[in-house]
This record gives sequence, C-alpha cells and structure tokens, in this order.
Amino acid sequence: MPEPAQLERRTTELLQRLIRFNTVNPPGNEQAAQEFLRDTLATAGFECELLSAIEGRPNLIARLPGRGGGPILCLCGHVDTVLADPADWSVDPWSGELKDDCVWGRGALDMKSQVAAEVVAAASLAEEGWRPSGELLVVITADEEAGAEFGAQWLCNEHADKVRCDYMVNEGAGEILHFDGRRVYGVCVAEKGVFRFTLTTHGEAGHASIPRIGDNALTKLAPLLQAMRDRQPSLELSPEPESLLTALGMDPSDPETAVREAAKTDPRVAVLVEPLLGVTLTPTMARASDKINVIPAQASVKVDCRVPPGLGQDHALVKIREVLGEDGWSIEFDEQVVGNRSPIETPLMDAIRGWVGQVDSEAAVAATSLPGFTDSRWWREAFPECVAYGFFPQRQMDMFEAAPLVHGADERVPVADLGFAANAYVHICQELLS
Ligand SMILES: [Zn+2]
Repeated sequence: MPEPAQLERRTTELLQRLIRFNTVNPPGNEQAAQEFLRDTLATAGFECELLSAIEGRPNLIARLPGRGGGPILCLCGHVDTVLADPADWSVDPWSGELKDDCVWGRGALDMKSQVAAEVVAAASLAEEGWRPSGELLVVITADEEAGAEFGAQWLCNEHADKVRCDYMVNEGAGEILHFDGRRVYGVCVAEKGVFRFTLTTHGEAGHASIPRIGDNALTKLAPLLQAMRDRQPSLELSPEPESLLTALGMDPSDPETAVREAAKTDPRVAVLVEPLLGVTLTPTMARASDKINVIPAQASVKVDCRVPPGLGQDHALVKIREVLGEDGWSIEFDEQVVGNRSPIETPLMDAIRGWVGQVDSEAAVAATSLPGFTDSRWWREAFPECVAYGFFPQRQMDMFEAAPLVHGADERVPVADLGFAANAYVHICQELLS
C-alpha cells in the first residue's frame, strides 16, 4: 500500500514537471510530455506504447497485465491544455511553481493534476509488486481540448482493441460541494447533448428611411430573445440530477421547488443544478441586415441548446416551442449530438463510495452530469458496456473556487488535493482489480 505522504510528494513533483511541457492546443505538441509519462510508467513495469494519428502528437497507452480473469480498469486523462496569456497571470503559466501550498500553472486543474495523480497511483502500485486481477490501463490522450480528432476519437475508432475497458476514471467532477451543512462529492456519470440551432425570423426588405415600406425581420427577433431571457424550458427529472438533489437533501420529485429552495440557501448551487434538470437555451450570436439603410428581410440568432443525456431533436423541439411559441420563426439545427451516460449503480461507484466513506465519513457521493463533453463520450460510444466516470476528488478547494480557474488565469491546485486524489486512485485500483 503506497504511503499517503509519498503519493502526495510524487504527484506534486510529477505535476510540476508536466506543467513545464507547454502543451497548449493548438498546436498541442504533446510528444515530449507523453514520452516523459511513458518512461515513468515503463520503469514501473507497464507495457507502453505511443500511438499517433499525426506526427508529434501521440497518445499514451500503458498496460499492467494481470493474473487473468478480472475486469479492465482504465485511468484516463488528457495532457493538452487550453492557451494561457501570461499577462493575466501572477506567475509564469508554464512554471509549475509551488506557492501557498499549491502547484500553479496551465493544466493544474484541467487536467495535468489528475494525470499526475493517476500515473503516480498506477506506478506506485506496480513498483510495489501489486498486480491486477484483470488489467490496469493508463490512457493519456492528446487533443482533447480541440475535439479529440487526433486523440480519444481516433483511438476508439482505430485502436479499439487497445483501449477497450470495463471501467474508466476520467475528468468531469469530484470537487467538494458544501450545501446547507452537507458535504457532497460529485461523480460525473453523464454528459448533456448539444443541439445548437439558428433561429430565423422573416419579413420584407425595404429602404430604412421609410420604416413601414418593408417588414422588419430584426424587430421580430425581439420577443423571441425576450422569451429566452424570461424563462427556460420547464424542468424535467433524470437519474443524475435526482441523485444530486437527494444528496443535497432536497426532494427531487419537484425540481422547480427544489431549485427555488436551493437558491434561498445558496444561489450558486441553484445556478449549477438548474441546467442539469432540462433543456437549456442560450442565445449567443445575432445577425440581420448587411447594410444600415436596408430593412432586413431575414434576421437570425444562434442558440446554444443543451439537452439531457439520451434525448434527441424531437425532445429539443418540444421544449423550444414551449418557450418560443409555435410560429413566427423557423429553425435549423447546426449541430446535433445526443448526450451520453453510464449507469449510476456499479462496482466503480461502490469503490468510490467506499473510499469516501474511509477518508471523509460525513460526506456523501452523488452522481451528476456535465453540460459539456469530455473524452468519456468516445468510450461510451465505442464500448456501450464501459462504465466511464469523471472523478478527481478535491476538498481543499471547493467547486466554486476551482471552477473559475479552469481555463482561467492563475490556475492552481492545492498540494493536499493531489495526494488525496492519488490515494483515491490507489484505492479504486485495489477495490476493482483485487
Ligand atoms: Zn479537460
């Protein structure tokens, strides 16, 4: 059993090293970071392979063969990051500086920290001679932040046999949520779908100097925008927000009341929970006439629409009509991706609950979903039996401290949480693969 203090020290050092590899995507340039991780895991006894869809941007597959007969657990992460503007930061974003008991730098939360904790947990177990019943896989992808074309998507399509697994731990949740005296760790088991659309109103062109000679399509957008400002589609229950509301001590059978009550206790929690409870409509881009003196015959607004896991266009349309009414507009979907999910009650959830019970016995574990995507979607799509969860436990920094730092300036992670997470991954490996 690797020593907690040792896990924390090693994860901290590994994260500092990882941050110093600039893997801002684009261009990503993940090669050197991946070779470094490969060497770490190979030294510990893993069989390692770098697989590249494009030169200089490999994915790492590391395998610790087992005694045979058990499941395959995959610890997954991505090593690329979004960009950082040093002018906005109080430290060099690629310094990996240790300051105020935190490691600072781009990727400190998303997600070189989790990669470091997973690699240290896996390497420490292997070095101690531990061997899994099935197999322990560590898969570190490239290109997550730009759509995974050269990363997880490519791996799951082109090398399915090498990345197939029964259980996966990836990014997506784990920061502690404090609410009404409760402590809750989220496990991300699902991701909402994306149904972005263009909403168009129609009129008749004319010279703008004589307002009533035409029929202004732009002013017809106003009530539609106002409707989306005033309300969202009615809330609906699904397994993930049901689990979360229950853990927060609220009655999930009446989501509207639950969100209202949550807002009284902590408005920030209501803001986060509400989008998990249904279709959301967020207008983001508008256009109408190309000339200031021409009354537009058409006006349009692009709407970022997110739909609960498993539901499709028909469901989105019902909810859109609920807010915008039946007529006076036309709609075209620009993107349609159905959201995905894994079941909630599984041996992996049991292992996570068991660990939380040991290290933070007053806390609860809740399933939750993400309004966006991670690499988990590619595994859930390619291997319908695979149970993929997002879990990087953090308790020094809560959800509301961590969230603005992800993709933001002064991204950092407390050293204590690095050891905490590495410890969780050791426990999960031992529970599922003993
Ligand atoms: Zn990420």
